[in-house]
Amino acid sequence: MKEQFLGVDVSSHSYERLKQNVLDDINEKRQSFIVAINPEKILKAQEDQDLKALLNKATYQIPDGVGVLLASKLNKGGIKERVTGIDMLLTLCEQAADNGKSVFLYGAKPGVAEEAKDKLIEQYPNLHVAGVLDGYEKDEQKVIQTINESGADILFVALGSPRQEYWIVDHMKELNVSIFQGVGGSFDVISGRVKRAPALFQRFGVEWLYRLISEPWRIKRQIRLPLFLLKVWRDK
Ligand code: UDP
Repeated sequence: MKEQFLGVDVSSHSYERLKQNVLDDINEKRQSFIVAINPEKILKAQEDQDLKALLNKATYQIPDGVGVLLASKLNKGGIKERVTGIDMLLTLCEQAADNGKSVFLYGAKPGVAEEAKDKLIEQYPNLHVAGVLDGYEKDEQKVIQTINESGADILFVALGSPRQEYWIVDHMKELNVSIFQGVGGSFDVISGRVKRAPALFQRFGVEWLYRLISEPWRIKRQIRLPLFLLKVWRDK
């Protein structure tokens, strides 16, 4: 089930549905690729056809950000719930822990993925983390080999966007991994090195407001949300 905004697909599945699909993908040995979609990426894809094709190549485009929900509402679509990259990661770790599947954390500065691993195991004691690797290893062959030798079912790639998405598409075929997700700065947050917005901001879906207060220069990026909605409205 997908909706399209300015030519970019977005899945309308809930966490529950995605969780089940991903488990089926692993059990049936299908490779799938999860990408988080927000208005910023959709706008960027308007000027970059390669990026648009890349985003549409993913198996599941999750609606990360309230802007995509508003756009769906404008189009009388069915996306009712945000599915954020970091919560998707946590959901997949829970699913992996419950079903004996393993995860690999690739990306972020040296030491960060290791700290994120410890935090994830605190939260999901049955989770099997097959391996971790920082995102500054230059030897691509070593990266591929380490991931393959780990035997992981799910690979989280934290190299920043869209680099991580290009990396996934370029290497999917060489990797014996079933599920790929680009997770941006998630390891920095899970490790505790970067703070996430307080729970109240998360609950009301206004993490952007918290980020605007704590990092006012973000206004330059956030000002693009009304522009995005206007374009979606015009495109109807
Ligand atoms: N990063 C990396 N290798 C690089 C460049 C970046 O592992 O060569 C990591 C960086 O340490 C950070 C993440 O990629 O953990 C990028 O996070 P950011 O929040 O910038 O990504 P976004 O979610 O905005 O795409």
